[in-house]
Amino acid sequence: MTTRTRIAPSPTGFPHIGTIYQVLIDYAYAHKTGGKFILRLEDTDRARFVEGAEEVIYASLAWFDLLPDESPKIGGPFAPYRQSERLAIYKKYADELISKGHAYYCFCTRERLETMRKDQEAKHQPPMYDKTCMALTPGDVAAKLAAHEPYVVRMKIPEHEKIAFDDIISGHIEFDSDVIDHQVIMKSDGFPTYHFGVVVDDHLMEITHVFRGKEWISSTPKHVLLYKYFGWQMPVHGHLPLILNEDGKGKLSKRHGHASVDYYRKAGYLPEAVLNYLSNIVWNHPEGKEIYDRKEFIEQFEVTAITAQAPRFDLKKLDWVNGQYIRAMQDEDLLARIADFDDRVKQLDKTLLMKTMPLVKERMHLLSDYWSLAAFFFEAPKEFERPLNKELVNVAVNALGECDWSHEKMEQAIRAASDTAKLKARDVFMELRLAVTGKMVGPPLLESLEVLGKDITLGRFQREELDKLL
Ligand code: GLU
Repeated sequence: MTTRTRIAPSPTGFPHIGTIYQVLIDYAYAHKTGGKFILRLEDTDRARFVEGAEEVIYASLAWFDLLPDESPKIGGPFAPYRQSERLAIYKKYADELISKGHAYYCFCTRERLETMRKDQEAKHQPPMYDKTCMALTPGDVAAKLAAHEPYVVRMKIPEHEKIAFDDIISGHIEFDSDVIDHQVIMKSDGFPTYHFGVVVDDHLMEITHVFRGKEWISSTPKHVLLYKYFGWQMPVHGHLPLILNEDGKGKLSKRHGHASVDYYRKAGYLPEAVLNYLSNIVWNHPEGKEIYDRKEFIEQFEVTAITAQAPRFDLKKLDWVNGQYIRAMQDEDLLARIADFDDRVKQLDKTLLMKTMPLVKERMHLLSDYWSLAAFFFEAPKEFERPLNKELVNVAVNALGECDWSHEKMEQAIRAASDTAKLKARDVFMELRLAVTGKMVGPPLLESLEVLGKDITLGRFQREELDKLL
């Protein structure tokens, strides 16, 4: 049997970074086992539907290069892959459950349900449907249907039973059926609820492994029952640990900018580094490695080795991982990635750009760091981090004016001139850096001046802007 994994996002906005981590597991598992990875769009909640969100999901998966083998966009043998296009299928299966006595029509009005809920709240009871409509006779139901009374369909839940399943990551899990609500499976608008759509589609699309966040564990007993009612084999389920905020308190929330996938692209992360980081926080490489590529991850990882404990999201660690990827890249490749990321860089002279690469590479964490570190190679600074000291700058300018343009010679000349002027060479270097780059930290100074060339370097001291600051 071919393994089939799936991601089933709802089109409600930018995917959460937790969704990408789920996709990574789906993708890796399918690829490891020679199976298929499917994207199904769960667009049945019309109130939460966001226009354009489907495209954003494709774009995010494309950016991470985690493309599915089947999806609404590319189709596949189990199309349609958009739940809103499968309504007739859900109706057929809901009818089957009703006729088998596992589900029933519910005609309760919104007002009645609201009164019931308030009543339960006052009595400190859990909010659950009181099963009124389960008692309707077939005659009552037929009359109400004939009168076009709006209805939903609810699934029956057995009383006093243990509902259990074995989770491939979290182990054996049991629920008491008495705490489970008679869940609506078909809404009055003819759309299925999540619980029903997910079970019908996972079955019909022959999904063998369901990996999803732990927050869905409490929904799973309803799914267990639906599989049982239909007499279908339940796919293997693995509930993945949730990613927590940096402080370990709560799920990484959308309030934190970096919960959304779009943040990483805009901030200058490399998708392969983000994936490496994500795999790292839930799984340990058998050799203790922290940096490994996707191919190696797919080869090495075992689903059962995923840590059940929720990891914290540490942006600083991710920056470090990203920096490792940047340093491991060939200069030419890095330049291509930077140019792709930063439009300003696209226009610039390639020879000069290539010369700057070895100077800035060691100091970069993100692609966006390039411009803040290297802009001075291409334009004189317009601002300075602090006012300049005229005396120190002059010592540097005079020393450089007479010296051969190699970093060794520049160093000797500045040291000698500082001694003569009874100034600390360190201070003169700092002032020189500030005058040429506008900043107090940056790439190695004298090597950078070598690249910049004597004329441009000295020209920077003759600018009116600089005179005004001195
Ligand atoms: N539609 C659900 C979501 O938005 C899918 C959950 C599942 O994977 O079963 O995440």
